[in-house]
Amino acid sequence: MLDLSQFQATGAETCFHGRHINPQIYADLNGANWSLKDYEARGGYAALRKILGKDGGEGLTQDQVIAEVKASGLRGRGGAGFPTGLKWSFMPRAFPGQKYLVCNSDEGEPGTAKDREILRHNPHIVIEGMAIAAYAMGISVGFNYIHGEIFEVYERFEAALEEARAAGYLGDNIMGSNFSFQLHAHHGFGAYICGEETALIESIEGKKGQPRFKPPFPASFGVYGKPTTINNTDTFAAVPWIIRNGGEAVLAVGKPNNGGTKLFTVSGDVERPGNYEIPLGTPFSTLLELCGGVRGGKKLKAVIPGGSSSPVIPAHIMMECTMDYDSIAKAGSMLGSGAVIVMDETRCMVKSLQRLSYFYMHESCGQCTPCREGTGWLWRMVDRIERGEGRPEDIDLLNSVADNIQGRTICALGDAAAMPVRAFIKHYRDEFVHHIEHKTCMVPAYI
Ligand code: SF4
Repeated sequence: MLDLSQFQATGAETCFHGRHINPQIYADLNGANWSLKDYEARGGYAALRKILGKDGGEGLTQDQVIAEVKASGLRGRGGAGFPTGLKWSFMPRAFPGQKYLVCNSDEGEPGTAKDREILRHNPHIVIEGMAIAAYAMGISVGFNYIHGEIFEVYERFEAALEEARAAGYLGDNIMGSNFSFQLHAHHGFGAYICGEETALIESIEGKKGQPRFKPPFPASFGVYGKPTTINNTDTFAAVPWIIRNGGEAVLAVGKPNNGGTKLFTVSGDVERPGNYEIPLGTPFSTLLELCGGVRGGKKLKAVIPGGSSSPVIPAHIMMECTMDYDSIAKAGSMLGSGAVIVMDETRCMVKSLQRLSYFYMHESCGQCTPCREGTGWLWRMVDRIERGEGRPEDIDLLNSVADNIQGRTICALGDAAAMPVRAFIKHYRDEFVHHIEHKTCMVPAYI
């Protein structure tokens, strides 16, 4: 049972800025200075020293590093939840040419604001995690692709890179070893689709950020056509702790198949929105309690548990869930990026879907017809229902259009646009019917 007394909400009073609790893997994000000196004082770069044998030990081989990450069960924190150690083992280490490591900091999903906080408060933990990953996979060049709308964070990361280079944690022959790693920051342009790994690769290459057909996958054909491994910021940030403490230690926190802690960005109708680090497997009710409960003492209506693309879950189901991949999947949704959007009883679900549908229509890159045309069609139908101009057949038509998008597109944006539509209609069909029949909202606050 989780002991709430161990948690302390700290940080600024505004949304998203530095409110981290129970810091374990992300160590001392609370109010800590981001500088190298401060990071080293907290044990920073000890994991890199450990694998390179600079702590008095013999060091770790590439296989041993990958084995530790596999043992931790660390799952990708960008949304897909793919096992990190397994992904690293796909890298063809014997490939004779250049290989690349990429950090995906293109955080653009509505509701998600964790990676920018890691980079803002603790950039060196990402640098160290990437250096360890590069060592494990025999990679000598890396990029951190940072979302275009967070320029201050990009500058912070650049400053941290300078510090790491000057201290010998990056560059040629790191700490006198035969391991060399050059890491660069790459500032994106702010398109949501550049968070898709192959669109991100295209963007790094200086092209328009549009997803590629897969296969081939980045492990064999990535940046400049070379083998490339891409992980999320949050995933790399978890690596130093795993190496310092051992993979098995992660499993002591969380639950089977869902080890360790995770950062959740809680937004919407709660008293204290922000980023919270909690063990996977923590009951949702506990997370809600940590956030001060539903704002204004109102009733919980629904939760989008993993970013805007994850299907909405009604309150009575969500209150039975634990915050981990398996529990949320069982409830019919996804943990995704860990962006928890809380909606209280005054929220109109038609209006909510209208806003989400607009976002996906706006962000479609336009390459494939079902997404380019379908996202616009979805938005126009939800919009007219919301405005009281919907037709009775529109509800089934919405489902039909969503069905014809899902699974028929090059990348997952099409699915991301379709899944919320089906979930909103499945759970809140009565609100859509009310909008059509009465040309107004059934939720009092919106009348
Ligand atoms: Fe572009 Fe949408 Fe097709 Fe993805 S699904 S490639 S965003 S048009």
